[in-house]
Amino acid sequence: METRIDRIKKQLHAASYKLTPQREATVRILLNHEEDHLSAEDVYLLVKDIAPEIGLATVYRTLELLTELKIVDKINFGDGVSRYDLRQEGAAHFHHHLVCIECGAVDEIQEDLLEDVEAVVEKRWNFQIKDHRLTFHGICWRCHDRSSQDPSQ
Ligand SMILES: [Zn+2]
Ligand SMILES: [Zn+2]
Ligand SMILES: [Zn+2]
Repeated sequence: METRIDRIKKQLHAASYKLTPQREATVRILLNHEEDHLSAEDVYLLVKDIAPEIGLATVYRTLELLTELKIVDKINFGDGVSRYDLRQEGAAHFHHHLVCIECGAVDEIQEDLLEDVEAVVEKRWNFQIKDHRLTFHGICWRCHDRSSQDPSQ
């Protein structure tokens, strides 16, 4: 994990920003919750545990800075809440999400899988793809298991 922090530090330096202790605390929370999709408030509450002096505005500005530098991506799953999601290192495009309409779980697909679709779009619409957001809505395997075990359904 230290190496990941070091690489993020270098990315900030390259853009003339410093990894201040408060920024570092925010980055650590994101790394510790890499599987989660935290709102600014979620991040703030977690950062406060390790850096009690930090304010919501600072956390918010840090998240915006990390978004600008493409270290995190801001996403919205339709509930009006912006969530901050660490980008996979070295990935050209953003990962996909599976959102369960029963339990609200969010799973990730790290493989792009869209090469064929991208080729069609680039050719037919003469559109140079830089990135994408793909969210699937459906029933997750957990809910599927649960309903197949419940004899009342
Ligand atoms: Zn994600
Ligand atoms: Zn792609
Ligand atoms: Zn589910």
